[in-house]
Amino acid sequence: MISVDQALDALFALVEPLSTEQIGLRAAAGRTLRASASAARAQPPFAASVMDGYALSKEDAHTDATLEVVGEAAAGHRFAGTVSQGQAVRIFTGAPMPEGTDHVEIQEDVTVAGDRITLRDPGRPGAYVRPAGGDFAAGAELPAPRVLSAADISLLAAMNVPTVTVARRPEVAIISTGDELVMPGESPLDDQIIASNGLGLAAQLSAVGALPRLLPIARDTAESLQSAFRFARGADLIVTIGGASVGDHDLVRSVAGQAGMEQAFYKVAMRPGKPLMAGRIAGVPMVGLPGNPVSTLVCGHVFLVPLIRAMLGQGQAPAARRTAPLASPVAANGPREHYCRAKLTQDGLHVFDRQDSSLLTVLAEANALAIRPIGDPARAAGEPIDYLPLA
Ligand code: AMP
Ligand code: MG
Repeated sequence: MISVDQALDALFALVEPLSTEQIGLRAAAGRTLRASASAARAQPPFAASVMDGYALSKEDAHTDATLEVVGEAAAGHRFAGTVSQGQAVRIFTGAPMPEGTDHVEIQEDVTVAGDRITLRDPGRPGAYVRPAGGDFAAGAELPAPRVLSAADISLLAAMNVPTVTVARRPEVAIISTGDELVMPGESPLDDQIIASNGLGLAAQLSAVGALPRLLPIARDTAESLQSAFRFARGADLIVTIGGASVGDHDLVRSVAGQAGMEQAFYKVAMRPGKPLMAGRIAGVPMVGLPGNPVSTLVCGHVFLVPLIRAMLGQGQAPAARRTAPLASPVAANGPREHYCRAKLTQDGLHVFDRQDSSLLTVLAEANALAIRPIGDPARAAGEPIDYLPLA
């Protein structure tokens, strides 16, 4: 049995960053920028007033100076002339500073009489002017790779970059397997259960940028699985759920083998999720997940999310770990790395007592997976422990 780290490395070796596509900003949030974008212009493109008031030269900014107002500048309406000493221009927020001015007096600090103003309390010289290029210069770069946030979208728009080069979304064919499974909303017989894992996994992988395709549930027959693998052609990644153990009805490994799977590994020293397998079928990376609901999602978090990120071109990195003190003691761990459902609160990390891999309620209640290394001794409350935050 290989370790979680070894399994993840073997998975990374199965994939390459996908190709890119050019898309508009409206569709770009959450996508992975793959070519650095560079600003087509500076922002602001001109020195601008931050306030409503009067633009004048710093030289004139002293108490009781009286100036002649020679025109007006508003946002989108530049004052065309040049302002001389002894003159000022009525100015509004966002307007370009007129030629000859480098200081704004706010209107509250000015006495107006006809076309003349008197400064009562000049601010520091150069006050209330936003300098040209103060946010970014022309040519400034937003570097790739990067998952585009709402702020990035605004920044790119301000850079006058209307389209961006992003990674194509990896298409993931998800195959649930099992004679007992029916889709939610159907009427299950009393020996059937609802196929929950495919939907949860699709949600988990969509959230990091994949395009999951839920294929029809495969029955526990070689023919049904074979036809599911045929349906999956064209995907960037094939994921099966269930049928991964060694029971009489666990066919995924043998059918994948008949379909020409080159196996990268089978079985990982982890809990939950031991019967994980991976390889390539007809050139397409394939991962076989265990069927227990919590195993599926924990393996999704530990293996598939980093794999999708690598395919998007974000680099090869395991799920980010953090550390927190244990809120209560935990017993010694066995020979497999244990990902325990836990809840992080202000008191620290509470590892739940119930860790059976079928308990979705416990997973839904968790906001963290506490990680117990292989052979970790019993730990007391207050000792630090690594965990994976769950979104
Ligand atoms: P298996 O690996 O096929 O032996 O499945 C292990 C357990 O997980 C069994 O109790 C299955 O009924 C259950 N299971 C398998 N696939 C799913 C699924 N897609 N949704 C919910 N439960 C499943
Ligand atoms: Mg099964």
